[in-house]
Amino acid sequence: MKANPISPTIPLNKDGVHHGFLKLPYSRDDSAWGSIMIPLTVIQNGTGKTALLTGANHGDEYEGPIALHELASTLKAEDVAGRLIIVPAFNYPAFRAGSRTSSIDKGNLNRSFPGRPDGTVTEKIADYFQRTLLPLADVAVDFHSGGKTLNFVPFAAAHILDDKATEEACFAAMKAFNAPYSVQLMEIDSEGMYDTAVEEMGKVLVTTELGGGGSSTASSNAIAKKGLRNVLTHFGILKGEMQIEPTVNLSMPDKDCFIFSEGDGLYEVMVELGDPITKGDLVARVWPMDSTGSPPVEYHACRNGLLICRHFPGLIQSGDCVAVIGVAEA
Ligand SMILES: [Zn+2]
Repeated sequence: MKANPISPTIPLNKDGVHHGFLKLPYSRDDSAWGSIMIPLTVIQNGTGKTALLTGANHGDEYEGPIALHELASTLKAEDVAGRLIIVPAFNYPAFRAGSRTSSIDKGNLNRSFPGRPDGTVTEKIADYFQRTLLPLADVAVDFHSGGKTLNFVPFAAAHILDDKATEEACFAAMKAFNAPYSVQLMEIDSEGMYDTAVEEMGKVLVTTELGGGGSSTASSNAIAKKGLRNVLTHFGILKGEMQIEPTVNLSMPDKDCFIFSEGDGLYEVMVELGDPITKGDLVARVWPMDSTGSPPVEYHACRNGLLICRHFPGLIQSGDCVAVIGVAEA
């Protein structure tokens, strides 16, 4: 396989705090010999575990970038045992555009793994993580939120896996993150996900959905910062006590958790995020946009649980996710 064109401007394996970039050559109209400069911090102190920390895998999700910028700018090498590789804006072109996907090639980084060294900009980023950074890592924390189109109750998540040893380690790390909600996740569309790439290498992955709507809040940022430090403490990379509070354990066992819109319209959510739901309850209504006098289309819950995700914008399109129901676990 070809070499990946990305090169780090700082060492990945030298003690100390190093701030630099992942430099990705990108020749274009406004910069003939230009590069995309993806911010990177590496903090290393002796031997120990390596954590690979990423935000803005989707460019319009902000808790991760905020927590990671704070960590990168405040931690000292002596605070760490092992190594942190911090990339606050994983899909940097998407992050700069404030959009879910890349402004250059429309690539959805979380559907682009394992990537290609000779592919699009997004595929090159994926390939660099797949073949260069992930093999260095013991644990990966990849922050997500709902972005502009979804809003979530704040949760950390780990996936149900065939490899039960990896699954157990992922669940333990999710518990350490200790978001207000903890979700055992079934993905509806796992092909090409970073998560899958991490798990298939037998590494621990913790992911999150911490809010949404295309911004962050004081409380969602606090959850991100606390969870990040807890996970790093769990792996012995940071010292100190983990801050553990009560969490609601949930699962998303099957496709009945998801409700999708079958038409365009004006979206009216009927329950609040976190509210309990009984099978058959009215979850949302979609009103016609272009004339009065017609009833709305109603969307009902297919199972008991609680509302963990809702469509965010005021208008909805056919095929959009209306809502997601999480199922309470003991
Ligand atoms: Zn995301």
